[in-house]
Amino acid sequence: MKIKVSEHIEVGSQKFKIQYTPNLKVDQDWRGSANQRTGLIEIDPCCGAGKNAVLMHELLHPIVWEYQLSISEEDIMRLANGLIALFNIEFDWSDIKG
Ligand SMILES: [Zn+2]
Repeated sequence: MKIKVSEHIEVGSQKFKIQYTPNLKVDQDWRGSANQRTGLIEIDPCCGAGKNAVLMHELLHPIVWEYQLSISEEDIMRLANGLIALFNIEFDWSDIKG
């Protein structure tokens, strides 16, 4: 399933901008980041096909915050991988900028 990623997303009351941040992995050892305070979801463009699971993971964070889920970082990762596998998701990144 191909899903187009919008540069701006909303989950309930929360708004986020999605952008590429080069060298995130090198500088902070993360391939992605979601920040509730800044409203920024950052993805390191380095990571090839793995970017899909990274983005899914970061998109789940606003859902966790908005709906006050009690779920560990590891379970967010597992859920992201499971959703990618279940729906065979491939994101269309053409709207995402650096
Ligand atoms: Zn996370």
